[in-house]
Amino acid sequence: MTANTGLSFEIEANASPVAANERAERLIDPGFGRVFTDHMAVVRYTEGQGWHSAKIQARAPLQMDPASSVLHYAQEIFEGMKAYRLADGGTALFRPEANARRFQDSARRMAMPELPEEIFLESVRRLVEIDRDWIPESDGGSLYLRPFMIASEVFLGVKPSSEYLYMVIASSVGAYFKGGAPSVSLWVSQDYTRAAPGGTGAAKCGGNYASSLLAQSEAIRHGCDQVVFLDAVERRWIEELGGMNIFFVFDDGSMLTPPLTGTILPGITRDSILKLAREQGITVREEPYSLDQWRADAASGRLTESFACGTAAVVTPIGKVSTPEGSFTIGGGGAGQLTTQMRSRLVEIQRGQAPDPHGWVTRLD
Ligand SMILES: *Cc1c(COP(=O)(O)O)cnc(C)c1O
Repeated sequence: MTANTGLSFEIEANASPVAANERAERLIDPGFGRVFTDHMAVVRYTEGQGWHSAKIQARAPLQMDPASSVLHYAQEIFEGMKAYRLADGGTALFRPEANARRFQDSARRMAMPELPEEIFLESVRRLVEIDRDWIPESDGGSLYLRPFMIASEVFLGVKPSSEYLYMVIASSVGAYFKGGAPSVSLWVSQDYTRAAPGGTGAAKCGGNYASSLLAQSEAIRHGCDQVVFLDAVERRWIEELGGMNIFFVFDDGSMLTPPLTGTILPGITRDSILKLAREQGITVREEPYSLDQWRADAASGRLTESFACGTAAVVTPIGKVSTPEGSFTIGGGGAGQLTTQMRSRLVEIQRGQAPDPHGWVTRLD
């Protein structure tokens, strides 16, 4: 099936899949990341041999040697994307090539082999095809896909692994927010940063998340929903949330988002919003924006909206920002006009309810 690599997926259907009535039960209110499908995709990599043994098989626990290098040195990367049910009943992915390319970029940074784009796309297509009944029918529901790669060589020496396991698992998810997106409150991390210049901030790797968890707990302790990080050098510029990029909207109708300088994860939602906004004639700057400026602009009314964005929650309005010196509220504290508009524009394209002039939607049937 994968002409340029000669790798085709062997399909070994789950012999005891979840019964239809039980599946329906689990899909009523799946939440996020708890309900999993019947199958998974697996491809192996061995130095000298390359990618091999591509398979779709029953989802099952992994058997791993405790000396597998990922367990010690965290050579791991992942992706996050969704399969949607279209308005006409079909199934589609949103910009899957962008995820495939970012997966290669992440692999390069972590000294891992780059998975050919065609194998990535085929693994996702095949998995969605066999587990498509797990896409919730409910409004806003989707199948969250989690491609990932781990270092599987059994060796405690510190070096890039000579063996890897690439897999895709799928999870049925409901609307991230029921009844529209409520605004979130942010805690500006004081003691911790997410990524330093020369570090792994632009790679989608588990390590970045591990190091963000303490800052996230601190945010919760301060009564906030999410943490937002400042840059590691000057501790002055807004970077992003633990797993979402950030946008600022001004009273002249323009938008701003921090530039991709290597410490920020290049979100596909971020990129899509930049393109949609620019073709709509909105002025969008990719420039550094400081915490002090944010506070001052929110107070003067020059800043009217702020929102976070990413695949899981799409677009989330930011209502309040807290620091040890005090907090400030953005606009009316709820979802602003441009935030709401950007969110609908994106969701409508993803679900086939609006024209797709960029060819972002890949139909699977
Ligand atoms: C995945 C991720 C995002 C959002 O990327 P999308 O492609 O839009 O889902 C933003 N920030 C971080 C740190 C991420 O890991």
